[in-house]
Amino acid sequence: MSAEINIDIEDMYRLMGVSPEVYQFGRTIEEKLKDRFAKIDETAEYNQLKVIHAMQKNRVSADHFNGSSGYGYNDIGRDDLEKVYADTFHTEAALVRPQITCGTHALAIALAGNLRPGDELLSISGKPYDTLEEVIGIRPSNGSLAEYGITYRQVELLPDGRFDFDGIKNAIRPNTRLVEIQRSKGYLTRPTLSVEAIGEAIAFVKSIRSDIICMVDNCYGEFVERVEPSDFGADMVVGSLIKNPGGGLAPIGGYIAGTNQCVENAAYRLTSPGLGKEVGASLGVMRSFYQGFFLAPTVTAAALKGAIYAANIYEALGFKVVPNGSEPRYDIIQAVEFGFPEGVIEFCKGIQAAAPVDSYVTPEPWAMPGYDSDVIMAAGAFVQGSSIELSADGPIKPPYAVYFQGGLTWEHAKLGILMSLQKLMESGAVDIKNSQL
Ligand SMILES: *Cc1c(COP(=O)(O)O)cnc(C)c1O
Repeated sequence: MSAEINIDIEDMYRLMGVSPEVYQFGRTIEEKLKDRFAKIDETAEYNQLKVIHAMQKNRVSADHFNGSSGYGYNDIGRDDLEKVYADTFHTEAALVRPQITCGTHALAIALAGNLRPGDELLSISGKPYDTLEEVIGIRPSNGSLAEYGITYRQVELLPDGRFDFDGIKNAIRPNTRLVEIQRSKGYLTRPTLSVEAIGEAIAFVKSIRSDIICMVDNCYGEFVERVEPSDFGADMVVGSLIKNPGGGLAPIGGYIAGTNQCVENAAYRLTSPGLGKEVGASLGVMRSFYQGFFLAPTVTAAALKGAIYAANIYEALGFKVVPNGSEPRYDIIQAVEFGFPEGVIEFCKGIQAAAPVDSYVTPEPWAMPGYDSDVIMAAGAFVQGSSIELSADGPIKPPYAVYFQGGLTWEHAKLGILMSLQKLMESGAVDIKNSQL
């Protein structure tokens, strides 16, 4: 190598727009996170082996990537991928399809397929994710479960975020058919639930009535721990392939892993009674589904490191971060409360400027339908709307919090966070000199 080629990393960051001052600040924070990151790598290593083992056991071969068209009968790639998911989640069966359009759809068919008129659905982790309100009929909606005579109740979590066991016991009625638990806090401020805590709640429900179906909304939680809720008695775990398990490569899709009966019921709802899992061409997506699932443990680890890094950077600068810099993590979402609008806006500009796609675009707050304030969103993703890729968004209203998640590589997540800080510094909204380091 000739002497004049400069390979200094700080210069590379400067080329990207990150000043030496911001870079050094990030370095100090990163230094303190070494042990924590090493633990995340160990979890990724464990989960990587789990996925490879499932692929080897099911003799995955190049033929599995060919895909089918038309009805998709005897699609070995599709059928064996479902076995790979089932073996990874330690369930009897799984449904993993490009015909499942998103996480909400996966949850909707899991519910509608397993509930009948007169049944009651009980959420024991408080209000479910926003989009489920219309699925269930909490907000009146065409085609909701409520319109089919399925009733709904919910038990709030206790103020400290634990399950309310007395409340659950009192809420279970003779027609309670399915209990829903949401692992991730989503965009609420409650803590995310650990798999262990979810396991205790499931055991409690089953001790009251063993025939109640326990379903976990597993979105954003996959591969964060070494175990999944299905290791602790969940009858179904449900999620989206444009989050963790798609590994950033799946261009669409959702999954349901669980008992034969539950998965079959969901399949009859997805396709048609009588047809179930037998139909559904995989078209050309099998390679990306397999390869994405193979990458998912390390991609999830990258996103997790990014969330922890962001928490520690902004906590050191005096902002409230949820979760905080040191508490255990059970999903990949990070919130930073700025308390002023420019905080949210400049943060999002930094995330956008660090993207591999659409980095030249400047995000602006706008009146998005369905929201009661302007919202700003930053994403430069290979897959539209993918939230395992680095992205950030926030409503322009108090407490002016930005929600941040994803990062297919730790290196990209790190760049995004440093760029966010750079933008905040340049706008004058934040000064590193005031940090609590
Ligand atoms: C993202 C998410 C969903 C819905 O998934 P979509 O793919 O956005 O439809 C449901 N529950 C939780 C907890 C989520 O994070």
